[in-house]
Amino acid sequence: MTPDFNPATYFSAQPDASGRYAQYGGMYLPPDLEKIMLEIRDAYYTIARSARFIAELRDIRRHFQGRPTPVYYAERLSRKLGGQSHIYLKREDLNHTGAHKLNHCMGEGLLAKYMGKKKLIAETGAGQHGVALATAAAYFGLECDIHMGEVDIAKQAPNVARMKLLGARVIPVTFGLRTLKEAVDSCFQAYLQDPVNQLYCIGSVVGPHPFPMLVRDFQRVVGIEAREQFIEMTGELPDVVTACVGGGSNAMGIFSGFLGDPCELHGVEPLGRGPKTGDHAASMTYGHEGVLHGFNSYLLQDDKGEPSPVYSIASGLDYPSVGPEHAYLHDTGRVQYTTADDREALEAFYALSRVEGIIPALESSHALAHAMKLCREEPNRARSILVNLSGRGDKDMDYVIEKYGYGDDYLPAELR
Ligand SMILES: *Cc1c(COP(=O)(O)O)cnc(C)c1O
Repeated sequence: MTPDFNPATYFSAQPDASGRYAQYGGMYLPPDLEKIMLEIRDAYYTIARSARFIAELRDIRRHFQGRPTPVYYAERLSRKLGGQSHIYLKREDLNHTGAHKLNHCMGEGLLAKYMGKKKLIAETGAGQHGVALATAAAYFGLECDIHMGEVDIAKQAPNVARMKLLGARVIPVTFGLRTLKEAVDSCFQAYLQDPVNQLYCIGSVVGPHPFPMLVRDFQRVVGIEAREQFIEMTGELPDVVTACVGGGSNAMGIFSGFLGDPCELHGVEPLGRGPKTGDHAASMTYGHEGVLHGFNSYLLQDDKGEPSPVYSIASGLDYPSVGPEHAYLHDTGRVQYTTADDREALEAFYALSRVEGIIPALESSHALAHAMKLCREEPNRARSILVNLSGRGDKDMDYVIEKYGYGDDYLPAELR
């Protein structure tokens, strides 16, 4: 059955009262955790409508984060691609800390403050969510515990150092494979021990209700700003809006500004080294319905329903599931989901650096790669394509240069 898409009632109807987007989302939790999530939901509903909370969040966005971030017309890149289409970038790389993640971390931190919590906790894989949350904790004067697998701690030294500098405690997770999944388990355990003083801050539009909704709501600012800015700049709406999809928070942020408009929305999943199991993280393209981390969505899984191993050159995209609202938007047909592989992302990474002077995050490079593909595939079609540039690539630079050099093997003549 195809669920409906109704733009007029979208944000009041999605999710429904039980935290579902059609059959996706929900709360698949032990009873004690479900009780805690319901408390957070109720607090969020009350606090998010308070004028004081809204005013404080606006002030933070403006004076601490540096919002609004600009929309930028990538004129040289558009021209060099040769067709009639034009690429625009929503510059979340210019948001404080260099990515969109701070948008929801500041919201979660403010919610924690209003709820009287003393500590923010979360897991982190590559460390990006940990750094954003540690930043929020420092701002609000809250304690912060970040659970991180020992293997990831060894790989991500600069982010571990950043979190510590910001005053967070990095808690090494020493069991199992010692990576992201165990860090989630460890954080849930710590949360159950003291839900009164702590708030578990989920890092994307995933996890049990109310987190997919709450993180989306905090990211909506990206889409609301981008729509206004784009119209002011060009007098029109973009024809296509595109974003990369890991858990799906930056994509939900920008898409939510345009859901009611006649714009095509394209989500881009990481195809890694190709469609073989274990070599990508394209959850909607190759997965099917299943429950992970307390919610129902598309899931890359084996015959027994165990989550499959996943991979992407962009560590922020390698998650075997995806936010339930994306699953819903996929099934309704309102958003189209496609893929970009490592090589295409690398080409976009090098091209934007060299042609526009902007080094993008490898995650964001997937969305840009898709926009570049649209320009090249239909050179006679004049479309405006708005890319959510979710973050900057400083974090990826050392790795990319060591492994792939400065781009000479990746850039065709027209993009040098
Ligand atoms: C974490 C991250 C992503 C992926 O997360 P979403 O929730 O899918 O947005 C994308 N871009 C950057 C720069 C990130 O740090």
